[in-house]
Amino acid sequence: MQALVYHGPGKKSWEEKPTPAIIESSDAIIKILKTTICGTDLHILKGDVPEVTDGRILGHEGVGVVEEVGSAVTGFKKGDHVLISCITSCGKCSYCRKQMYSHCEKGGWILGHLIDGTQAEYVRIPFADTSLYHIPPGTDEEALVMLSDILPTAFECGVVNGKVKPGDTVAIIGAGPIGLAVLITAQFYTPADIIMIDIDDNRLNVAKTFGATHTYNSSRENVAEKIMTLTGQQGVDVAIEAVGVPATFELCQSIIAPGGHIANVGVHGKAVALHLETLWSKNISITTRLVDTVSTELLLKNVISKKIDPSKLITHHFALKDIVNAYNTFEHAADEKTLKVILTNE
Ligand SMILES: [Zn+2]
Ligand SMILES: [Zn+2]
Repeated sequence: MQALVYHGPGKKSWEEKPTPAIIESSDAIIKILKTTICGTDLHILKGDVPEVTDGRILGHEGVGVVEEVGSAVTGFKKGDHVLISCITSCGKCSYCRKQMYSHCEKGGWILGHLIDGTQAEYVRIPFADTSLYHIPPGTDEEALVMLSDILPTAFECGVVNGKVKPGDTVAIIGAGPIGLAVLITAQFYTPADIIMIDIDDNRLNVAKTFGATHTYNSSRENVAEKIMTLTGQQGVDVAIEAVGVPATFELCQSIIAPGGHIANVGVHGKAVALHLETLWSKNISITTRLVDTVSTELLLKNVISKKIDPSKLITHHFALKDIVNAYNTFEHAADEKTLKVILTNE
């Protein structure tokens, strides 16, 4: 089969690899129908994730059809259409029993990281019974690719941890695919105002069409000042960080209202100052989390019932074999106005 293979920092190629086979009885082999590229894949290609070794097939998102199942798999059979979760869960370890699948002792985020991933014609999924989801016939499978990672990440790490509730003022810092997915899923809880902050005007315009009530461009506006004015000097009830750099986490700390919640979603590579000298008396909470994909079933139901439409995050389509071009488009997101790309195994 063909697959997108990582060969060390800055190096990748679409090349021939052996088709995966069942190793453990709980495995399934999935023929990929559609997959995508994640910001995390770009981090890997920069060399930021050293556990990923030369020869690894990238990708941790996608939908497909079951080709073969191991003898212990009972919930899936050949021909079933499935959503692949970015988090593999054994369902039995102490973390899985606490629904903290991201820290599963035998799984967690392993696809396209510690084992071969989904940017390929076929992928082996360990613990298939607890790591795959059935796709009902007639569902928009492209939209479901957004449920492998970005929607549960945005919802669990941002909206649920941020405790968004009716009437809240919510600020989302970062209007990339994750920030926009926070914007989509925050609206389950009918906050009164949702403020989006980014440095890209195109993304801010997209945010308005997705339901943002206010947008600010932090490259030319004093966002903290604007938000304090907007909120009568109180600040926001929930500040969700969806970028992963010190400046954006500091912004969250300067706009949070007493009693508020700061929910971190971004992947941070550098230390960030914690301003306890101003926050110690403000009754705020700060949360961090890796996505557990405990909300996938709930999100799936909302996509099927058309309560939410994650397909609006998809801006570009490519054939899977054109994945190197797709990476170029995804890497030059500002110029190409890219949010998510869909790769179809034709
Ligand atoms: Zn991802
Ligand atoms: Zn586990």
